[in-house]
Amino acid sequence: MKKRIAILGSTGSIGKQALEVIEQNPDRFEVEVLTANNNVDLLIAQAKKFQPNVVVIANPEKYEYVSGALKNEDVKVFAGADALNQVVQMDTIDMVLTAMVGYSGLLPTYNAIKAKKNIALANKETLVVAGEIITRAALENQVEILPVDSEHSAIFQCLAGEFRNPVEKILLTCSGGPFRGKTIKELQNVTVDNALNHPNWEMGAKITIDSATLMNKGFEMIEARWLFGVPSSKIEVVIHPQSIIHSLVQFEDGSIKAQLGLPDMKLPIQYALGFPERLKNNFPRFSFANYPTLTFEQPEPKIFRNLALAFEAISKGGNMPCVLNAANEIVVDAFLNQKVAFLQMPEIIEKAMEKANWIEKPGLDDLIQTNSETRNITKLLIENNK
Ligand code: MG
Repeated sequence: MKKRIAILGSTGSIGKQALEVIEQNPDRFEVEVLTANNNVDLLIAQAKKFQPNVVVIANPEKYEYVSGALKNEDVKVFAGADALNQVVQMDTIDMVLTAMVGYSGLLPTYNAIKAKKNIALANKETLVVAGEIITRAALENQVEILPVDSEHSAIFQCLAGEFRNPVEKILLTCSGGPFRGKTIKELQNVTVDNALNHPNWEMGAKITIDSATLMNKGFEMIEARWLFGVPSSKIEVVIHPQSIIHSLVQFEDGSIKAQLGLPDMKLPIQYALGFPERLKNNFPRFSFANYPTLTFEQPEPKIFRNLALAFEAISKGGNMPCVLNAANEIVVDAFLNQKVAFLQMPEIIEKAMEKANWIEKPGLDDLIQTNSETRNITKLLIENNK
């Protein structure tokens, strides 16, 4: 039986690489659903090639264009956010790969879990915003959440066979991004292009900026907290510029397990799709000859304030990580549009966290409201900042 996959966000970096993995394993996987926000031409090309049952274009204004282009194919076309929330529940889906950007991943992921679909989770913001609700829903519906994020895939692999052994510490590795080692002064005038130039990973714009500010690592800490049930006090960020060790787990006897490999997202994608099997592939192999030195440093949360803010948000708990995420989405967008400077991003996020209405035990509706309120607060802070 082939595993039938729905890819939410098929035109993004993870979506495209997932389709490469599927293409290389045609006897294992079948594409059932493809979705995209706006990139219609690529979505159409993917639909023609992979012949999914359904495609969804999230932007309803682009429905006519997509359905017109696919009118001679045996592919159903839907549009809009509601369609996205419905198609993830289709009987013919075995696994949903969530590879969309940001908060938009939350509701489709929640609906897929409610419909008992296993999740290959690439959209970490879902767990940042609503980690408690999502992990509880997964437990109640006996759904597996398989991490696609390379660090979390590494931790997951280190934990395999260790279910009775408590974790003493998770060591979450971080490349340090393009501005590793820079001083506050040096960060004052960095440009969007500087920030988009990641040393090791080719990714979409939003996550690349998050990697430069270390918000990505803050989010990954929160993601790890929920995926593995380990409190943030037991998660330590380690800068490892070569991105070969994808993360480590330390057990109570002091022993540390690590997972290593070249920085290639196809490996964690394939692991999540194929789990529990390891599928043979011809990806380039790691060689110590090419990497004679692996190095480690401590992060600088005084310079990269976002990392400290993420730890603050998760220890405050409730809806505060949701506030953190919403404020971050707005400032990153503003930075990409050159409306705020690099170092203003954490300043504005911190102010948004101060202004937000804290809710100790938010339900899903509270989080939806927190998200939209925080976006408005943050936009106003940016306006007043000029
Ligand atoms: Mg990662």
